[in-house]
Amino acid sequence: MSQSGAGRIAGWMVAVVWAATLVLVYFELGWFAAQAIEGQDRSLIARGPLWLGAVGFVVAFLVTVVWARGLWRSEEAQASGRKLGRRRFLVGAATGLGGIVASGGAVVAHLRGWMMVTGPALAPETPVVAASPRPEWQGARVREYRRLGRTGFEVSDISLGSGRIKGEAGEKVARQAIERGINYFDTAPDYSESGSELALGRAIKGHRDKMFLATKFCTPHGNLPAGTSVQDYMAAVEGSLERLQTDYVDLIHIHACDSLERLLDPNVHEAFDRLKQQGKARFIGFSSHTPNLEQVANTALEDGRFDVMMLAYHHGAWPLLGDIVDRADAADVGVVAMKTLKGAKHRGLLESRDEADAYTQAAFKWVLGNPGVACLVISFREPSNLDEYLYASGKRLRSGDQAVLQKYDRLIAGTHCFQHCGVCLDACPENVPIDDVLRHRMYFEDYGDEKEAMRLYSKLERKADVCLECSAPCIGACPFGISIQERTSGAHQLLTLA
Ligand code: SF4
Ligand code: SF4
Repeated sequence: MSQSGAGRIAGWMVAVVWAATLVLVYFELGWFAAQAIEGQDRSLIARGPLWLGAVGFVVAFLVTVVWARGLWRSEEAQASGRKLGRRRFLVGAATGLGGIVASGGAVVAHLRGWMMVTGPALAPETPVVAASPRPEWQGARVREYRRLGRTGFEVSDISLGSGRIKGEAGEKVARQAIERGINYFDTAPDYSESGSELALGRAIKGHRDKMFLATKFCTPHGNLPAGTSVQDYMAAVEGSLERLQTDYVDLIHIHACDSLERLLDPNVHEAFDRLKQQGKARFIGFSSHTPNLEQVANTALEDGRFDVMMLAYHHGAWPLLGDIVDRADAADVGVVAMKTLKGAKHRGLLESRDEADAYTQAAFKWVLGNPGVACLVISFREPSNLDEYLYASGKRLRSGDQAVLQKYDRLIAGTHCFQHCGVCLDACPENVPIDDVLRHRMYFEDYGDEKEAMRLYSKLERKADVCLECSAPCIGACPFGISIQERTSGAHQLLTLA
């Protein structure tokens, strides 16, 4: 097998080419994918690494084809062409397929940090509307304001995240939030492709002087990469001012920041300084829920120019974050918490709906139990959120809340396929689409969308009935510790009428 005929390509050469390609794919394609996950405006991501990785991949594939053809020719004299033609095809196809799978694995390996570190924070949130709102929640208002570090502004402890806000409905929720005492709005140009800024701009009319408005250095299509010109950074903020119908924003964050290059980009700081001189922006910050969150936050504290940091912060995660919040507090840097519901899997997870409803409030109280946190931002989607969320304002964590949080952690451990990453798929000889099966289970249990979940499951070509009798070679295949067989078997029973 090692020496080709006419192709003169040896098997070891093919192995070397694929090894070099995998390194290229890991660094170049992996880099490109990481920029996209970080939320960068796709049109602004450098295409060079993408092409380099793609060219490497194509070259390796062609070398494999030439090698397989040479393999056939060298043995042509020894057997019938038909038999060897089949062998050539099988060897070439197996090598090519292995290369494709390994290349996919190289990209996933590059992105592993995103999946391992920020899993719960990045997980898609389930609809968070109390199933049975309690009468005492009605009309809940903000009961506590806290100083946002050196900005000196007293912000509502529970504040409005506007990622889902748009149109007239969003504007109405934002107006009601102001009436209930919320005075900190967090938005970004790429929230609802600028729909969020437009809705908030209409909602704050007549209230601008009471509000603290935070937006991001960003376009409606995503983040601005390091090296963006000062003019382009400034133009992005000018666009926000226009949509928000205001002359200034209180705070501009470097959005979803995963790299020190973006955090310390001299152009972004130059742009901010000029905007500040012009009276168009007052403070600068950064937001991060990324694999490098701790490094980014530590560097920002050492740098000293940042007035505010918005961090993914929820019960039982980010072990070093408590220390970072303490140091931010000591440096008078305001801390805003986000992703506070740890994936928001509480509906369906906690057996009783009463407990599930209380989970949001318990999670908020845990976050606000740290005096270094000035406020948390949470996505408001509809007016009923105001009652449920604001009922936690100004309240302290009690032992009953602790119990709910512990129960949540217990239930979530090793069970929830947040990432749907597909890393485990190769471990299943039966080709069960584990990620899809568990996604449909999530629709059923967490979203409460039983019919749709069962309909989608019924459409799968391969179902998880085979898991019931399987010896489970998939054990240990999930890097997040999910007991795949138990979850897929249970999903099959849940999602089928039989
Ligand atoms: S238990 Fe299910 S998912 Fe795991 S290997 Fe067996 S068939 Fe595949
Ligand atoms: S079960 Fe599979 S798809 Fe889900 S997180 Fe684990 S490895 Fe990824």
